[in-house]
Amino acid sequence: MRVKFHKVLLKKRFPLVISRGARGDSYNLFLSYEKDGFVGWGEAAPSKNGKAETVEEMQDQLNTFLKQGIESCNTEFLNQKARKMGISPSAYVALDIALWDWKAKKAQLPLNQLLQLPRPFIPTSLTLGIIPADQVKERIRLMLENSSAKALKIKLGSQQGIEADQQMFAKVLESTEKFQLKIRVDANGGWSTQDAIYMIKWLADRGVEYIEQPLEQGQESELRYLYPKRPLPIYLDESCRYADDVGKWADHIDGVNMKLMKCGGITEALLIIQKAQKYKLKTMIGCMSESSVSIAAAAALSGGIDHIDLDSHYNLLPDPATGVQLIDGVTLPDFVPGHGGILKPQYHA
Ligand SMILES: [Mg+2]
Repeated sequence: MRVKFHKVLLKKRFPLVISRGARGDSYNLFLSYEKDGFVGWGEAAPSKNGKAETVEEMQDQLNTFLKQGIESCNTEFLNQKARKMGISPSAYVALDIALWDWKAKKAQLPLNQLLQLPRPFIPTSLTLGIIPADQVKERIRLMLENSSAKALKIKLGSQQGIEADQQMFAKVLESTEKFQLKIRVDANGGWSTQDAIYMIKWLADRGVEYIEQPLEQGQESELRYLYPKRPLPIYLDESCRYADDVGKWADHIDGVNMKLMKCGGITEALLIIQKAQKYKLKTMIGCMSESSVSIAAAAALSGGIDHIDLDSHYNLLPDPATGVQLIDGVTLPDFVPGHGGILKPQYHA
């Protein structure tokens, strides 16, 4: 068994601005796991919230974990062990994804088939970060030219207040009229309870499909003021990391957004899906700043998920990995054994 690490700079086409700040180019950690002649690929994006802020920190944590031995390859056991050891999910995810890729390659099956999930068929959102209203039209033109995208996720919760949100959103509607796109909104916790009540109604009147994380993480008890008369379905993202979090606010939400980088990988994401079904909640799968390796891994799950937001690799220039493409609006992994994502040879350390 051999594990190798690869540190790669992800260069963005457009920096992503959300309510909490901007994210430009960043380094991700790639991991290859080789055993019995098969190589599994994984990826991890550093995260402040995930308590692994640099590639070096993530690699240290993974080395500590690997020293304990992973010969059994039992992903459920290893996931629990990593949690108990305090390994950041943002770091552990690289190993979890690589192990699942390896298992599927060894079984000679695409990962979705190994997981007994349908191939992805629901179109993904493309994400538009917070930008000045007068730049919206040109940005949307650049994002949508030569693209088969069918849905947009608009980031609101501007630090300049809901008037700025409304100005930006009005321009989005004007600029997308001819494209017939579904439009979703993610406030990334940027609103007060009062602003959220007002904005959710305002956005519902303008044809938005659902709203994600209206209130800041930590303010979940306020959801009881939003939920009863909500004009739009409400999803949580930042407020829900692990399967154990799903039930906490289940009475006051319509669904949860899971991310491999947030929960620690496919093993935990499968538990989140089960938990969401138990509480009759809808599911969404999103991403951080990721290449085609971890997007392909997430896409392998996405045939069993209600809303898809797997688009970060389309904003890379260049994507250092291959294995997943936008086909008729759907983020679709290559139909090969494994998850399909591979780091291009020129980026191998
Ligand atoms: Mg979100």
